Amino acid sequence: MAAQEIVSIEPSTGATLWRGEIGNVDEAVSRARAAWVEWASRPLAYRSETLRRFANTVRARSEAFADLIARETGKPLWETRTEVEAVVAKVDISIASYHERTAQRRLEGAMGARNALRHKPHGVLAVLGPYNFPAHLPNGHIVPALIAGNAVVFKPSEKAPASGAFLVDCYHAAGVPQDLVQLLIGGPAQGRALAAHDGIDGLLFTGSAATGLALNRQFCDRPDKILALELGGNNPIVVWNATDIHAAAVIVVQSAFTSSGQRCTAARRLIVEDGKHEPLMTEIGKIVDRIIVAEPHSLPQPFMGPVIDNEAADHLQERFLSLMMKGGKPFRRMDRPIEGRPFLTPGIIDVTDVADRADEELFGPLLQLIRVPDFDAALAEANNSCFGLSAALIGGNPALYDRFWANIRAGVVNWNRPTNGAPSNAPFGGVGFSGNNRPGAFYAADYCAYPVTSSEAEQARAVIGVGLRDR
Ligand code: NAD
Repeated sequence: MAAQEIVSIEPSTGATLWRGEIGNVDEAVSRARAAWVEWASRPLAYRSETLRRFANTVRARSEAFADLIARETGKPLWETRTEVEAVVAKVDISIASYHERTAQRRLEGAMGARNALRHKPHGVLAVLGPYNFPAHLPNGHIVPALIAGNAVVFKPSEKAPASGAFLVDCYHAAGVPQDLVQLLIGGPAQGRALAAHDGIDGLLFTGSAATGLALNRQFCDRPDKILALELGGNNPIVVWNATDIHAAAVIVVQSAFTSSGQRCTAARRLIVEDGKHEPLMTEIGKIVDRIIVAEPHSLPQPFMGPVIDNEAADHLQERFLSLMMKGGKPFRRMDRPIEGRPFLTPGIIDVTDVADRADEELFGPLLQLIRVPDFDAALAEANNSCFGLSAALIGGNPALYDRFWANIRAGVVNWNRPTNGAPSNAPFGGVGFSGNNRPGAFYAADYCAYPVTSSEAEQARAVIGVGLRDR
């Protein structure tokens, strides 16, 4: 690989999928700066219509897009098709969200003046994307940013640059000005340089907590810039008094292993009542043993593809072994069925007896089982994390769910639904180290514009009623 290039490798095959030159941060930012004022001055209806054309462009190219994401990330084709659908759906959701969250409002004013609440775009927003949803997640920042009137410099993950390039091409093909959305190819170094650039007015980030913390430090003396962080989790799923054991097992498997566990909302810790967990674990084992792990286009369709690369697979296997060394008991080992490629079978390990379990996000198909004596202990265990992205209770009754809901610290709290099910027309974000309290999805409009309050009158009329001497 030449020093100035990013090369995208298909995880399933090891073949080179795409290569692109590392971009110039200064150039991208200055082009975007020059472009944003005109875009911001266009009526909202014009910006919305342009984005609707983008949705149509993606729809027309959806099969090619889904195929590319599948090759680049290894995710099964059926799953990447849903990612492309989410890219299309984001436009209408963001338009609705703009109107609901940041629309213009008239307020009552004194002395015949009218008070108005309007919102203005920040200017140039940098967007840094992760590899696991290389189209949907950056698009979830870019579309609301454009609707609000901002320009965008988007750096896709170095592990999924082709999907990012495809996305940007769709904006341009739909008539979004070339300079308004800039594609910046690069890795962490370009991410850091972009974040530090004086010419950006803010940064919208989806990625790991480690990077999020680094960015938070980088922005600590820049209160003038907006920073929105959507980070990872160490998400609990609590199964308690479940009557339908099969359904509970299915929900656990979906929560932990969809996308090969490479979802920020994936369940990482399964918390169960000690002594009553055997039937559930037997059922989970039966399902897990039937899971097809294969390349994204294979038939019958796989449930899981590979993880993103060999480094990620090595890391996960190393963590599994380390948990075993500390007293963890494997329930299902995490195997590498295809030599030299990052396919992993779902791993489940009982870590109840592991002292000092690390509170870390293991971003792959690895579920840790924790047995507890009672529901209070289950709640304490579920909250025993610096993260707070998603959590689910499976089983119980309304009173137990009320208790769970009231006590759990997470931004997505589900009942008898997977941890990774979050509606697209609702806000999305976590507490703790899962973000910086700037939730995205339906609330993304909030961080794409700032409110301006105006008191306005056509004529200047003013009197001072107190505090003046008689003439
Ligand atoms: P990552 O943090 O490694 O990379 C994300 C982006 O940041 C990439 O574009 C990368 O090049 C860039 N980057 C890396 N280091 C940087 C630095 N020091 N300064 C500036 N930019 C830098 O994340 P990833 O591994 O690509 O994605 C997986 C992570 O994303 C997981 O932790 C997952 O939980 C999280 N995630 C969160 C959400 C959410 O909405 N909360 C959604 C999906 C993924």
